[in-house]
Amino acid sequence: MPNELQRYVLLDRDGVINRRILGGYVTSWKEFEFLPRALEALQYLAVHGYAALVISNQACVGKNLLTIARLESITQRFLTEVALAGGNIKQVYYCVHMPKDDCNCRKPKPGSIQRAQLDFAFVSQTTYFVGDSPEDMQAAGSAGCPAVLVRRDAFLETRLPREVSTMVASNLYEAATMIVAKQTRNAGWPESVVPARDSNKYFHAHQR
Ligand SMILES: [Zn+2]
Repeated sequence: MPNELQRYVLLDRDGVINRRILGGYVTSWKEFEFLPRALEALQYLAVHGYAALVISNQACVGKNLLTIARLESITQRFLTEVALAGGNIKQVYYCVHMPKDDCNCRKPKPGSIQRAQLDFAFVSQTTYFVGDSPEDMQAAGSAGCPAVLVRRDAFLETRLPREVSTMVASNLYEAATMIVAKQTRNAGWPESVVPARDSNKYFHAHQR
């Protein structure tokens, strides 16, 4: 499939694909627990022509709670399970730095998304980021990507980001169906056009 027809979706890992460990990190495969319907969601996205790119902060490596080798081993098992379930994760980008390192790849900064964009040449305006934290939403916003917030729990609902482009879902499966439905509906639009708000400009520019 030519690259311009390939759709991508950007996914946070912990709290979106697997269960977030409160106040801690996933440091072994035994602690890596897929969230309900997450594998089904990854398969659904693959079936609808989406390749997934995972963008995740793993400061546990910088904090010496997990070696790179063990992170890679967890990742291999995670990707194997996803592939067996019919999912299509093309690449995983980890920031292994600590907040004090002030790197550009740790969300809320957009560096890792921008790196993925260089690697896969997706159009940010039509590439959704699915995350469960304000840092995810901020990174997506800075990179120009629309976002879907997966609710961690009901309490977070009062602290939702204000961005109009942010959609809210209960889990990755719901987020996936929202993204596919929205982009199927907009399928007649050129990749670079954001419908609705810019529609007048679009017609004006293309009428002749
Ligand atoms: Zn980093």
